[in-house]
Amino acid sequence: MDKLKAAVIGSGFGGLAVAIRLQAAGFDVVIFEKRDQPGGRAYVYRDQGFIFDAGPTVITAPELLRELFSLAGRSMDRYVEMLPVQPFYRLFWEDGYQFDYSDDVAAIERQIASKAPRDIQGYNDFLRYSEEVFKQGYENLAHVPFLNWWSMASVAPQLVRLEAYRSVFSVVSKFIQDPHLRQLFSFHSLLVGGNPFTTTSIYTLIHCLERKWGVYFPKGGTGALVQGLVRLFQELGGTMKLACPVSRILTKGEEVTGVALTGGGQEAFDLVVSNADVFHTYDDLLAHEAGVQGMRQRLGRMSYSMSLFLIYFGTRRRYANLVHHNIMFGPRYRDLLKDIFQRGRLANDFSLYLHVPTMSDRSLAPPDCETYYVLSPVPHLGKLAIDWDSEGPRYGERILEYLEQRYMPELRKEIVTQRIFTPKDFKVELNSHLGSAFSLEPKLTQSAYFRVHNRDRKLRGLYFVGAGTHPGAGVPGVVNSAKATAALILDDMKDVKARARAVAGRLSYA
Ligand SMILES: Cc1cc2nc3c(=O)[nH]c(=O)nc-3n(C[C@H](O)[C@H](O)[C@H](O)COP(=O)(O)OP(=O)(O)OC[C@H]3O[C@@H](n4cnc5c(N)ncnc54)[C@H](O)[C@@H]3O)c2cc1C
Repeated sequence: MDKLKAAVIGSGFGGLAVAIRLQAAGFDVVIFEKRDQPGGRAYVYRDQGFIFDAGPTVITAPELLRELFSLAGRSMDRYVEMLPVQPFYRLFWEDGYQFDYSDDVAAIERQIASKAPRDIQGYNDFLRYSEEVFKQGYENLAHVPFLNWWSMASVAPQLVRLEAYRSVFSVVSKFIQDPHLRQLFSFHSLLVGGNPFTTTSIYTLIHCLERKWGVYFPKGGTGALVQGLVRLFQELGGTMKLACPVSRILTKGEEVTGVALTGGGQEAFDLVVSNADVFHTYDDLLAHEAGVQGMRQRLGRMSYSMSLFLIYFGTRRRYANLVHHNIMFGPRYRDLLKDIFQRGRLANDFSLYLHVPTMSDRSLAPPDCETYYVLSPVPHLGKLAIDWDSEGPRYGERILEYLEQRYMPELRKEIVTQRIFTPKDFKVELNSHLGSAFSLEPKLTQSAYFRVHNRDRKLRGLYFVGAGTHPGAGVPGVVNSAKATAALILDDMKDVKARARAVAGRLSYA
């Protein structure tokens, strides 16, 4: 009997995870990826022996990834080795203060004791709070699709009890008084595109998640993890089509029937899962579909997370003061975030994340050299409409000069390769609405039921996975969204009796 055919548009972590789940459950899955490599934001650049992971570098919740391999009866260790990273982050301030953040509570308490002894108790209370949020927000809800009001109403009491209506910074400040430490314990939401001053305090669960399962880096880089997932998908019989953008999702009446390709041609499918940007999906791929006009308008009114400016560079010199993950705070915190999220200004000062993967894996650079990327959060294109083609190189030069003056002497002389990636690239390369780096902003009013649902309300056979859906951006977020979407699909297909026969007995994996 013929298998059910599923198309997945996009090969980000969410797309790969849902494709593996469906393929393992007996579907015939084809991934259509616009770019010439899989991975989405986890793209890889290579130059002169340097290997640059373009996007995610802090890999948390490895069990979620391991689950993808084990549901297909394989061991992840045969595909990719996960290296533990210590410390998780080194944080630097312009006044010279430095903090090594990790899962070693004793080491953290020692550092707090020498800075603000009165905050030790507050830190322990904060940890307990973040564990509680983790239990409710992550363990119980991260992989559950929120499709109706009732699903949201049923969790409202817990959200109120955990003060989810407060911001990350406001809750951290309740526990911790020292200004440096308040920054240290609140910056995490920025890793998934959330402004700590407006993002729901549910995102404090990241502290617990990191402490519980650790921070990892795949040997060979995040690209090696992507390759491991692609290999698994292909071994299960799935098809990956690279450099193959979808131009349209085909519909007949209220049902999805397949996809049309930019290069020409159409393919019929029983269902389509979009891992592409949610606005792009409704506005471009479904531009012909009057039935989703309401959704298009709603997405046009929603707020999108910030964009990023990135420089990937390699040096012929190593800097011993750095660790694998470095956060460099500038002179302003709240006000800089206002420039980025509200005022839409390109600030003169920076707060930066500096990635040095060669601290964990020397194979990512030639001998005695070092591989880096530096990331600066900037407003998205809807807030700041500048010409990044001309501004980008200037802005990049300012960032390198700043790093050189404060942290990396003679940096610009030591650079042997560099490239930049701007908000415009997020839009053009990734079809990301307004060049946002993390899709819809993670605010309470855009979370769970209020985010894009994992299944479209109007078009039968249309599903979503990835950063724009529940629970949101970040590798654990999108891999969880794949779990929710795959379970939904299997459930829906069981309802269609004729289809269920076609995959009888094979629906239990997802
Ligand atoms: C610089 C950066 C650093 C980050 N660091 C971390 C980190 O350290 N840890 C962490 O957990 N998260 C991190 N994140 C967030 C995380 O990378 C993302 O939230 C996550 O990878 C998004 O996955 P996704 O499944 O939504 O798909 P995406 O990665 O967004 O992929 C979507 C794919 O769809 C493709 N596509 C779009 N339109 C079409 C079309 N019409 N036809 C075919 N294909 C199409 C795109 O080319 C793309 O490949 C980072 C993000 C960025 C940008």
